Amino acid sequence: MTVLDIPELALVALVGVSGAGKSTFARRHFAPSQVLSSDMFRGLVADDENDQAASADAFDALHHVAGIRLRRGRLTVVDATNLQSHARAGLIRVAREHDVLPVAIVLDVPEAVAWERTEARADRTHGRPVLTRMRRDLRQSYGRLAREGFRKVHVLRGVEEIDAAEVRYEKLF
Ligand code: ATP
Ligand code: MG
Repeated sequence: MTVLDIPELALVALVGVSGAGKSTFARRHFAPSQVLSSDMFRGLVADDENDQAASADAFDALHHVAGIRLRRGRLTVVDATNLQSHARAGLIRVAREHDVLPVAIVLDVPEAVAWERTEARADRTHGRPVLTRMRRDLRQSYGRLAREGFRKVHVLRGVEEIDAAEVRYEKLF
């Protein structure tokens, strides 16, 4: 079992390609109200969870709600791919503004697994090249996360390790 130590109050960024299992992991380990997903916010601002053109507004709203939650002292999990530095920078900024520790949990599954899952889903229509690009972004992310300001970087490699992980909360004081 891999124990993921997370401060009681943290901004947790899930990091992983589409199909890595981020939303599944979030559902399993966190309460629905703790999880802010990019899909949910695209739905809120555009009535369509897959409307990529709504992403900027969706993340604007997501960051805003995350900031309010952190100000109120509520642990917050961001369920988005978070594969690019500029996307993660927005989260680091919100965490810093509220004096909260940013934590990353990387879910790394083989590309074949992510692709197999994607093909089985009706709600995801991106092609294999998109997934391959996400995998490249993930590889580049590894060396960057700590430098960007994530205070803890938990990496779960492979489906077994992801399935066996447990979250443990660290008292802040
Ligand atoms: P996206 O970035 O596209 O939202 P995601 O990382 O949130 O993807 P999920 O929606 O959690 O991925 O999972 C994709 C598919 O894989 C789902 O059909 C889900 O049931 C399945 N899946 C996710 N995690 C696991 C797991 N640990 N074991 C078996 N199947 C899984
Ligand atoms: Mg998801």
